[in-house]
Amino acid sequence: MYDQEKIIELLQTNPQKADITDLLNANEGQQKILLKTAADVKSKYVGNIVYFRGLVEYSNICGKNCKYCGIRKDNKKLCRYTMTDQEVIDAALYAHREKYASIAIQAGELNTEKFVGKITSLLERINAETNNELGITLSLGEQSEETLKMWKEKLGVRRYLLRIETSNRELYEKIHPNDEKHSYQQRLDTLKLLRKLNYQVGTGVMIGLPFQTVENLAEDILFFKNFDVDMIGMGPYIEHSDTPLYEYKDQLLPLAERYNLTLNMIAICRIMFKDINIVASTAMQAIDPKGREEAIMVGANIIMPNLTPQKFRENYLLYQNKPCLNEDAHHCKKCLEKRIRLTGNEIGYGEWGDAKHYFSRQFRKLK
Ligand code: SAH
Ligand code: SF4
Repeated sequence: MYDQEKIIELLQTNPQKADITDLLNANEGQQKILLKTAADVKSKYVGNIVYFRGLVEYSNICGKNCKYCGIRKDNKKLCRYTMTDQEVIDAALYAHREKYASIAIQAGELNTEKFVGKITSLLERINAETNNELGITLSLGEQSEETLKMWKEKLGVRRYLLRIETSNRELYEKIHPNDEKHSYQQRLDTLKLLRKLNYQVGTGVMIGLPFQTVENLAEDILFFKNFDVDMIGMGPYIEHSDTPLYEYKDQLLPLAERYNLTLNMIAICRIMFKDINIVASTAMQAIDPKGREEAIMVGANIIMPNLTPQKFRENYLLYQNKPCLNEDAHHCKKCLEKRIRLTGNEIGYGEWGDAKHYFSRQFRKLK
């Protein structure tokens, strides 16, 4: 059994895959110590503050066919929608008025000129109508260099979230169709491009995928280290009956184990990377009503209150049992405020909550 000091030593000085794997497998007594260590590191390096990113699930139209995802192109059982310009602006204005300070716009992946043009004009309007005060995160999949450069340099987008999904190329190929639209290399190159363009770069993985081992997850953590990420958004994989991976549902880890592994992943990342931003993912709450609070208690410091109009929510079902489908933005705000207060954290209203790591990384670059 490792004590707190030993865990810090193992993870903060030249961490090895075998040690990370051991800690990922921690349960009961050892897990308690791991999670407590992470809570202490969080309060020391980023404080007990949680920042909001108001989540706008802009459209469920997607040109891709990831085998795990409920809104994949070939799922015909779904009503496809795109929010109107006014609905997006209203969501942004709500976030601005309520001092969320940041929003995240997420959607299925489209690369058409029309889609890119629409996002561009929406960003222009959001900036104009909020006096450039909202920190904007995009999560719109792989886009061209020209597009990403324009959004960053002309429209001031601060952050981009692109999960690598798994850093293991073979596993990536098993959970995606085998064509050039779903290329591991392309995903990785886009992450590198985001870094080159000076975005605050967020990535992450799904935890408990079919065929995934705990060693794979340890490699994912070393991938985050190698990439020197600013943000991590990761959560349990949750099967969806209208997707190809559903056929492996009987081979998956039980939900409670995926949940515990996710807590351990968050804790290890907090201890190793100290000053990055880590998201408490909604998928944690799909498994346990207190999932996001627990994630916050063991190291997460970002939460994404949903701003998507209620009528669209049941059609943005990436996975089953997604919570809060019958709620509206105001209800989500009140509910999260209460939940976060119970964790002993404060909400960073009115603050962008940029990753401290982004600035320390820039500083290291200058030296
Ligand atoms: N289209 C964009 C953003 C929307 S999908 C993209 O793919 O990057 C956002 C995230 O949802 C994905 O990165 C994936 O990690 C997650 N996701 C999709 N299906 C899931 C499932 N069945 N269980 C858990 N997370 C899932
Ligand atoms: Fe589309 Fe993203 Fe789902 Fe893949 S994960 S099918 S790109 S929405």
